[in-house]
Amino acid sequence: MNRDFNEIDLDEEEAKGEKEAKEEKKEDGKDSGSDNNRDEKKFDDVCFVCRRPESKAGKMFHLPNNICVCNDCMHKTMDTVSQYDYNGMLNSPNIAFMNIADLQGEGGIPNKQKIKKKSGEKTKPIIDIHKIPAPHKIKASLDEYVVGQEHAKKVISVAVYNHYKRVATNTMEEIEIEKSNMLMIGPTGCGKTYLVKTLAKLLDVPLAIADATSLTEAGYIGDDIESVVSKLLAAAGNDVERAEQGIIFIDEIDKIAKKKNTTSRDVSGESVQQGMLKLLEGAEVEVPVGANSKNAMVPLATVNTRNILFICGGAFPDLEEIIKQRLNKQSSIGYNACLKDRFDKDKNILSRVTVEDLRKFGMIPEFIGRLPVIFTLQSLDLEMMKKIMTDPKNAILKQYEKLLELDEVKLTFDDGAVEAIAKKAMENDTGARALRAIIEEYMLDIMYEIPKDENIGKVTITREYIEGTGSPLIEIRGTALLTDQSGKQ
Ligand code: ADP
Repeated sequence: MNRDFNEIDLDEEEAKGEKEAKEEKKEDGKDSGSDNNRDEKKFDDVCFVCRRPESKAGKMFHLPNNICVCNDCMHKTMDTVSQYDYNGMLNSPNIAFMNIADLQGEGGIPNKQKIKKKSGEKTKPIIDIHKIPAPHKIKASLDEYVVGQEHAKKVISVAVYNHYKRVATNTMEEIEIEKSNMLMIGPTGCGKTYLVKTLAKLLDVPLAIADATSLTEAGYIGDDIESVVSKLLAAAGNDVERAEQGIIFIDEIDKIAKKKNTTSRDVSGESVQQGMLKLLEGAEVEVPVGANSKNAMVPLATVNTRNILFICGGAFPDLEEIIKQRLNKQSSIGYNACLKDRFDKDKNILSRVTVEDLRKFGMIPEFIGRLPVIFTLQSLDLEMMKKIMTDPKNAILKQYEKLLELDEVKLTFDDGAVEAIAKKAMENDTGARALRAIIEEYMLDIMYEIPKDENIGKVTITREYIEGTGSPLIEIRGTALLTDQSGKQ
């Protein structure tokens, strides 16, 4: 993860030996005294024991390994220590007050006890109201990467545009513009995560991706709900202001639906939804900097989630049935009555989802209420699969072509091969995710064999090769000779 503030890795430092240690000492000197380094001014030292920043706790003692302890805590420690009779043990060189090595474990302390100060003066907003791209421009940029999903791209572009307009103008007092948190419904592998990732990249805002299944109510085994904000802070390079304008994507949100007919306490479902309400709406949360869980060793930062855009996504597997039931009930009454299985063949049944359907699925009304923008993504068909392989800017086939180009070999996939791969991917139920695995399987032999022979100038992947009935076409440099070498051994 991004730990900009853990500038110095303790393990590495040990290995580098004395010389580095001396430099480190010099740096410490700067921290405590000199004003030379302007960047240092942006940071506040935090007491290792009581977590108060230097601005509150007063001047700090600087211990080795960038640990700071405030005056009060240092005195308390000394007082406690002096109450015991150590028979002169304290003078022994083998006894240390703190075993620094104990603190370096996984998820331990960040090596520098610093958090970024919230500057009082107004900084330039990350997203300038005049520079927020209009929805059609956001969509056009998304089009370069994401295939199909026209409706989803349109909805998300408008919602994001409105959200950042709201953030940038900040006119909450007069007319309160509602936060445009989103709920994305679509089968697995259809591009939900990819859409959000692309969006965050285009907007240049930090993005945290979390899995709802790993979240539990505070105090239970698993990640606290607030850990998602902690992740975002890490993605923003521990810059609180940047994090406060970021995006949090929570995947598998359908997995925290209320369980039906349970008598036991529902730790992972309903209560997680309850716990998320505050975050979705906007709250000040104290999150650990550079670690997943709060403990005494980690400095805390306060992050306001009011301007953080939350996007939840899930496959909602049984939702179609719920929608069908509702539609069938409606259509079986009155003179509009029609055949019962009318909706069974409707491929886009998901797009007819209503808040009531989601409530039936097990999402609590308060939770859905905080996700005002609800939209669905289509499951991928053969044509979309083919396009995903070839069309986007960083399409997977383009990546392989580029790789072989570096060996000065021209790689092409004929149309039949692309279709055969797409068909194979459709057989798996994992959406476009299956594509990479299939292509990798077939490309392994090619990538292994081609560099062996410098004479090879061109390779064409054929349908026969993918279907296992033939081999790729190999052309030797300078001649147009077609050989029947099989890539397979
Ligand atoms: P999910 O909907 O389960 O979150 P992902 O977004 O993780 O699925 O999709 C998996 C991969 O499939 C992505 O990394 C991306 O490369 C590819 N992919 C899926 N859908 C599309 C799409 N519509 N356009 C382009 N690539 C896609």
